[in-house]
Amino acid sequence: MGSPALIFLKHNIIYLKVFIIFFLSCVPNGTNLCPNHSLATLKVQRPPRLNSTNIVSSLETLGLDGYFSFENNHHAAKDFGNMYHFLPSAVLHPKSVQDISNTIRHIYEMGSASELTVAARGHGHSTQGQAQAHQGVVINMESLQRLEMQVHTGKTPYVDVSGGELWINILHETLKHGLAPKSWTDYLHLTVGGTLSNAGISGQAFQHGPQIRNVYQLEVVTGKGEVVTCSEKKNTDLFYGVLGGLGQFGIITRARISLGPAPKMVKWIRVLYSDFSIFTKDQEQLISSENSFDYIEGFTIINRTGLLNNWRSSFRPKDPVQANRFSSDGRTLYCLEVVKHFNPDDTKTVNQSIENLLSKLSYIPSTLFLSEVSYVEFLDRVHVSEKKLQAKGLWEIPHPWLNLFVPKSRISDFAEEIFGNILTDTSNGPILIYPVNQSKWNNKSSLVTPDEDVFYLVAFLTSAMPSSTGTDGLAHILTQNKRILDFCATAELGIKQYLPHYKTEEEWQAHFGPRWKVFVQRKSAYDPLAILAPGLRIFRKAIRTS
Ligand code: FAD
Repeated sequence: MGSPALIFLKHNIIYLKVFIIFFLSCVPNGTNLCPNHSLATLKVQRPPRLNSTNIVSSLETLGLDGYFSFENNHHAAKDFGNMYHFLPSAVLHPKSVQDISNTIRHIYEMGSASELTVAARGHGHSTQGQAQAHQGVVINMESLQRLEMQVHTGKTPYVDVSGGELWINILHETLKHGLAPKSWTDYLHLTVGGTLSNAGISGQAFQHGPQIRNVYQLEVVTGKGEVVTCSEKKNTDLFYGVLGGLGQFGIITRARISLGPAPKMVKWIRVLYSDFSIFTKDQEQLISSENSFDYIEGFTIINRTGLLNNWRSSFRPKDPVQANRFSSDGRTLYCLEVVKHFNPDDTKTVNQSIENLLSKLSYIPSTLFLSEVSYVEFLDRVHVSEKKLQAKGLWEIPHPWLNLFVPKSRISDFAEEIFGNILTDTSNGPILIYPVNQSKWNNKSSLVTPDEDVFYLVAFLTSAMPSSTGTDGLAHILTQNKRILDFCATAELGIKQYLPHYKTEEEWQAHFGPRWKVFVQRKSAYDPLAILAPGLRIFRKAIRTS
């Protein structure tokens, strides 16, 4: 106990001490970038700060083509994961790149006197709050879609699109010219900026690399509000930093995406395996073959009965009699899913090529299922499931997804434990598993992958039933995810998380490994106040006490 004056003095000494520690710990390489952990200390005794209401209302004074909304912004505190909810102070609906630049520059010029951060929100399909900004500004990137798409035909075709454009719209626009992007995600209702900030991976990635490998040029608004055009040759460091950069270095406002000839149709094929090692051997053989399939994925089936009957609505069995005799009941099975592109006038050639490719595989013969659909139907396939789940109220539920890259040399150890011990009874959603060739990727981008020529994407795409306390409840699934991650760490499998989610700086450092230093340097160069993408919790904005 003491007099009010003494208490005041004591408090100020504490604040001063905290400020000095904070300031010293926040100056790597001469910037005031503040890694996560140093702020954890500060959370306990936060010094007084400027009035955020005034700061936010100062945004209203900016002359914009678009506008800010300061109320009813709950949608911006929500994402596909449905687990994290951080309400922003404002949502910017930009109508021009200048709107984004002016807003960020304004916040940058306030310096560390303001706590305001900025998150670009694509289609909000992150699962752990990555596109959210607690009391900050969320930029609704889809408002930028108004900027026209421009398709350039010729020897090296490409399309210029807004960072807020949905991939499904790009598909429809480019098809008008007989062209399409080469690398996709399984679901196309995602934005260009959202997937390029991660990687953008699907069954074409073994051949063309992820989407971040198929970009010629970007226009980016940095954390200082500068509008910069970058490519492999111009502002190279920013270009590679932004690709797979988790939104840390700038906001992608425009992208130039490489195109190739688009097929009209696809042959879509599924076959089953009961032996994991034969399944992966066949997948690996296919991704290294010349003239292979155009899409190669796979998934695990745990404890499902009547599986093949479910497929019959869209696939037909090659041998209906044998297929009828096959029973999946209860076994863990592995499904190889492949696609070959074709145009109606080359059906004969494509059938021969498929027969040749299938003849080298060792799947269970009675389980060959085929389908023939348009290219658009195939690429937009998940949207069909989305509509069905929407109708049942099962789309907007928690999605505790876990995505991992597993090195080829350890995939059998991984499968033995995960499918043999951890996920034996059931899975509450698809588990994708397919290999890709590192040589087709690009290790100059910010994306981190295992250090092997071939590695697998394993995606646990789980849904949790709201308010369930059983095996389909959120708590159970999160525990299972933790068991999977703990096993990977203990067995030193050398995995990397895709769409990573960590809570501490140590974990982020371990994720980036030797590339952490470059990541921090890039942050210092392009977003020195750590304004951008706070939802990842890699860096925290340094706040000045006054
Ligand atoms: P958001 O969730 O809005 O944003 C994602 C991150 O990018 C945030 O950090 C955000 O701040 C940042 N960001 C958004 N826009 C920009 C921008 N213009 N500039 C800079 N940063 C920006 N991924 C795959 O790779 N392959 C798949 O097959 C695949 N399938 C999926 C299927 C479904 C049903 C869902 C929900 C997701 C899938 N994903 C897949 C994951 C998806 O690629 C990522 O979640 C992606 O980030 C979502 O895109 P979005 O446009 O909704 O971005």
